[in-house]
Amino acid sequence: MDLPFAEDALEPVISRETIQYHYGKHHKGYVDNTNALIKGTELDDEVPLVDIVKNSDGVLFNNAAQAYNHNFYWMCLTPDPMPPSPKMVELIERDFGSFESFKEQFLNAAATLFGSGWAWLELDVNEKLVITQRSNGDTPIIYHHTPLLTMDVWEHAYYIDYRNDRKKYLESLWELIDWKFVASNIIEYYHDLTEPCRENSELCDYIEMLQHENEVTT
Ligand code: MN
Repeated sequence: MDLPFAEDALEPVISRETIQYHYGKHHKGYVDNTNALIKGTELDDEVPLVDIVKNSDGVLFNNAAQAYNHNFYWMCLTPDPMPPSPKMVELIERDFGSFESFKEQFLNAAATLFGSGWAWLELDVNEKLVITQRSNGDTPIIYHHTPLLTMDVWEHAYYIDYRNDRKKYLESLWELIDWKFVASNIIEYYHDLTEPCRENSELCDYIEMLQHENEVTT
C-alpha cells in the first residue's frame, strides 16, 4: 500500500526516519516475503490479502498477517485527527464504562503486551467491543472479529524515536488516531461477523446510520 500521508507528516510523534525504516524496510519486507511465498501457488492470482491471511499458516501466515496489520496500522493514523463521533463514543461507553476508562485500558494493554505484537480494539462475534493483546502477527480477522483500531508495539515501531519508552510512544500516538477510519471499519467488516448485524441491535442501527452518512457525502 501507499502511505496515506507524507513520510514526515506525523512528526514529531513519529519521525521521518522511523517511517523510512518501519514502512520502507519492515513493512516492505513482509510484503516482499508474502509475494515471494505465494508465487506460483493458487494464492498468486490477485487473491485479496485478507484471504491470504485467512487461508495460510506458518511462515506465509506470519508475513501476510504482518503485511495486513501494518496496512491497518498506517490507516489508523492521521496528521489531521478529529475526535470520535458521538455514536462511536456511545458504543465505547456502553462496553467500557467511559471513554477515559477505555483509553486507560487500551493503552495499558498495549504497554504491557509482553514481547512483540499489537494491541487491538475489535468487535467480537457478539457485537461487543473488546481490547486484545495479540502477539507477533496475530490478527483479529482470523477469529471473525472486526478490527477497528490497532497500535503496533513491536520495538521497531518506536525505538528510533522513543528508545525503550513504549508508554510515551503510545500516549503520543493516541493523539493521531483517525477515528473516522475506526468507525469506517464497522461497515467494511461487519459482514465478516458470525452473526452480522442482528436485527434491532444497537450496532445494526449504527451501521445503517454510517451507510446513510456515506451515501450523503459521496
Ligand atoms: Mn511494525
